[in-house]
Amino acid sequence: MFSDEIVQYSWDDISKRISSKNSSDVEVALSKRVCNIDDFMALISPAATPYIEDMARLSRQYTQERFGKVISMYIPMYITNSCSNHCVYCGFNHNNPMPRTILSQEEIEQECKAIRQLAPFENLLIVTGENPRDAGVEYLEKSLQTVRPYFNNLSIEVMPLKSEEYYRLTQAGLNGVVCFQETYHREHYKIYHPKGMKSNYEWRLNGYDRMGQAGVHKIGMGVLIGLEEWRTDVTFMALHLLYLRKHYWRTRYSVNFPRLRPSAGGFQPNTIMSDKELAQLIFAYRIFDHDVDISVSTRETPHFRNHITTLGATSMSAGSKTEPGGYYTHPQALEQFSVSDERSPLEVEAAIKAAGYEVVWKDWDKIFD
Ligand code: SF4
Repeated sequence: MFSDEIVQYSWDDISKRISSKNSSDVEVALSKRVCNIDDFMALISPAATPYIEDMARLSRQYTQERFGKVISMYIPMYITNSCSNHCVYCGFNHNNPMPRTILSQEEIEQECKAIRQLAPFENLLIVTGENPRDAGVEYLEKSLQTVRPYFNNLSIEVMPLKSEEYYRLTQAGLNGVVCFQETYHREHYKIYHPKGMKSNYEWRLNGYDRMGQAGVHKIGMGVLIGLEEWRTDVTFMALHLLYLRKHYWRTRYSVNFPRLRPSAGGFQPNTIMSDKELAQLIFAYRIFDHDVDISVSTRETPHFRNHITTLGATSMSAGSKTEPGGYYTHPQALEQFSVSDERSPLEVEAAIKAAGYEVVWKDWDKIFD
């Protein structure tokens, strides 16, 4: 389990190693075809800032070599905002006295039909809060069976499950699982996740092992940028990715770097990452891991997404609603977070094509399951 491996790394030591990187370390990293974790640290360090153009060129080259000039499209479907956790940065947290919804299977079917009217999406990401009692594995299994006729590729972003539960869901058509560790800072994790199932750091951390053991085809990882010093957090995630690749080598991996934004009356991020830093991070991940899928959601602006289309991203969401039932059933419900890119899927498609890239709506067929 990764919890046994991570104990050999200290947060402070990794932070120091990153800040000690200089321009010659960056140049060494850029000269290598295969980078190690020290090279990765150099690429995300402040010392790499003057090299961002070189990093962008390399990131584009590796992405095109591995993926071609394509962006794969997906859309999230929130099916419940019911949550027993107390994440201090989230509007769905248990303490928030908001109306809660758990969509019925009929409502989920209506959402599917509404999405199919938007664009020819085949990659669906089902998202829930974490309420194992009222929206547990059985509900997820039924929901996968309901959406199955409408989409070829199904992923979930839900509470961490047991290995046998992941396996059970793969039998209902599940192909991918996305889970954000949020932060790898062991001690501070509890500050952001004070109560509920999510307060158990190890259970979440080892969830990726359980996905690998269950034979989940694709695992999505991420840290929430804005909680802790981001360079150290993403380095821990890179170590985690290396570990997973070694142990579950048949699995595909994707990464995503959602940024917390300041909001009136809400949780204020502890650190702010600029667009330039996010671009540097994406380039660094691509140079470090040529095969990893890099997903850029509608949290980012059209301007940023248009630029990153040709420089390292491989998948994007579009037309996203971040409230349960947002496409048809409850279009006015409270969103988990507000999107920055409000273009329609077809407008996003047009922008990707204008950049000389193809849009892929379908890259998986049920027949592979
Ligand atoms: S981040 Fe997820 S688990 Fe935490 S309160 Fe929000 S919906 Fe619940």
